[in-house]
Amino acid sequence: MAEVQLRNINKRWGDFVGVENFDLTIADREFLVLLGPSGCGKTTTMRMIAGLEDATEGDILIDGKRVNDLDPKDRDVAMVFQSYALYPNLDVYENIRFPLKVRKVDPATHDAAVMRAAEMVELTEFLHRRPAELSGGQRQRVALARAIVRQPNVFLMDEPLSNLDAKLRVSTRAQIKNLSHELKVTTVYVTHDQIEAMTLADRVVVMSRGVVQQVGTPTEIYDKPANTFVASFIGNPAMCLMDGTLTNGVFEGKNVRIEGLPTHHNGPVTLGYRAEDASLADSGAITAPIYSLELLGDATMVTVRAGGAMVSIKAHKDYRAEIGDPVTADIPAGICHIFDAASGKRLD
Ligand code: ATP
Repeated sequence: MAEVQLRNINKRWGDFVGVENFDLTIADREFLVLLGPSGCGKTTTMRMIAGLEDATEGDILIDGKRVNDLDPKDRDVAMVFQSYALYPNLDVYENIRFPLKVRKVDPATHDAAVMRAAEMVELTEFLHRRPAELSGGQRQRVALARAIVRQPNVFLMDEPLSNLDAKLRVSTRAQIKNLSHELKVTTVYVTHDQIEAMTLADRVVVMSRGVVQQVGTPTEIYDKPANTFVASFIGNPAMCLMDGTLTNGVFEGKNVRIEGLPTHHNGPVTLGYRAEDASLADSGAITAPIYSLELLGDATMVTVRAGGAMVSIKAHKDYRAEIGDPVTADIPAGICHIFDAASGKRLD
């Protein structure tokens, strides 16, 4: 069992608030992803769990035990960093073995543990190379093997894929997902990449400026974003957001009019929809000239200005038109998300 509890954690440096009122229980064996833009407090939160940073306020419990005053080495957590942090003068075998030596694990068990970890990340043929003789992806796999070699209670990963090229990121991502499934260790994973978060997480914590915006499964966060920040951060492309006024179930903004919306909110709102839920039609909610056309292979993305913003419609892959041509798009009321214009909070 390794449940991790963060009870009302705050981190301040002088007047600057790095993390504010972070309160969450991470279940045993859960894969939790901290997601948000640069500087939102993800790494700081993870470093507090690891013991590399003190919380200004609040309690951190691992397995029911308060660990605030424990050194990192006594918390039974293993970390994987973006920078790999390998020892350049040790070969792969010795790098993977290092945590076992530091923790004075019985030397008779080392070889089997190193070989098991190396096998899990497919590194057995590179055991006698040094880090300088490996590719970035192989180095990252050494860092992963080193973290799993001693089967920690909690696995902490800080942007482990961000130094890899796009293709390698996808395959290493799949490998991490598979590893987490096999190891069944509570994992906290930091990223600013929403696709990584959506594909890996059991639950995602979306953060902005030190504050948790929403906690939920990838589906919950995608289908019911709690506010415009989450809506504009999740999804590829992100949700289209338009400003306008809602009156008796009719939303009106520049170049846009949608009928049949809920009637219990009236006044200025931000209306959101996903580009794949809209379609080009003979008549419909948006009428505007085309601002840009992007061929994506499986679809053509048509972008127009409406409701004070750039919004997109996912059209058929063979759709062709010129920039400036007028288009009309249908946006069914049932797929719309409505947010308060001032606070950005979800209204429905
Ligand atoms: P990134 O994705 O860029 O790593 P992050 O979400 O992980 O960002 P953190 O590293 O947690 O962000 O930093 C959160 C905020 O706290 C940032 O504004 C950062 O500048 C600030 N911060 C981090 N460490 C310190 C420190 N030692 N002293 C003062 N401010 C700090």
